[in-house]
Amino acid sequence: MNARDEYQAKLAADKAEGQRKADEFNRRYPIGTPVVAYPGIRPEDSLAVKFRERQAAGRYVDPADARLCAGLKTVTRTPAWTLGHGEPVVSVEGYAGGICLSHVDVAPRTNTPDSITVNEQGEKVTTFRLKRACNGCGQLLGDVDSRDADDHGNLTDVRAECDHCRPLVELEAAGCQTWELTPRSFARVADVIDRLRPWVFTKGYWQNVDGKLQVVGLRVGQYPDHIVARFGDWIIRHRDGRFTVHKAPEATS
Ligand SMILES: [Zn+2]
Repeated sequence: MNARDEYQAKLAADKAEGQRKADEFNRRYPIGTPVVAYPGIRPEDSLAVKFRERQAAGRYVDPADARLCAGLKTVTRTPAWTLGHGEPVVSVEGYAGGICLSHVDVAPRTNTPDSITVNEQGEKVTTFRLKRACNGCGQLLGDVDSRDADDHGNLTDVRAECDHCRPLVELEAAGCQTWELTPRSFARVADVIDRLRPWVFTKGYWQNVDGKLQVVGLRVGQYPDHIVARFGDWIIRHRDGRFTVHKAPEATS
């Protein structure tokens, strides 16, 4: 490869990778998502570390350095896009132009505990912030905010925020297919798996529940290599056609 072809190949690879990052950002974070943006340098940059040390020690700080190190607590105001050389960027409220995604941290979700007070009438009043449940397992992740609904009013996918479900998101990114098995999705999931080629055997998994035999999950594959997914579990089909189960978290109640 000559230098020019090498450059073109590198550019194409950078563009594809930048687009992938922008797409993934947009899939997860609608406009209005709370972020902390660093238009200048990131807080872990050695310059920023020195700046904070000077500041903490009460020494003089150059206003230009202060601007360079400033973090902006704000929300996104556009979807992410890529620049000509492939760098993914996004715009935020309070700053003109795009900021590299590598300089934009999605703000951690707040988790406000319920507060119980007694009003003038002596009645107990509970004040609570609405909580967001994980789309993967239903565990509560923290307060609902603007990252939770897209501009069509659909819930966003927040599984990557969930310790239990993050592995699923990573498997999907690596090209695995996943299905959440519930009593409602059972027929659809069984049908989709049944249509896969090469064909795999599926069968309802029956168990005695309170003296009654009923379906509690789905069996996929032939004995002894079969797997059993119960309602609440996720079924994963790996790229080599192998199936595994991502178990639902243990009930905490
Ligand atoms: Zn989860």
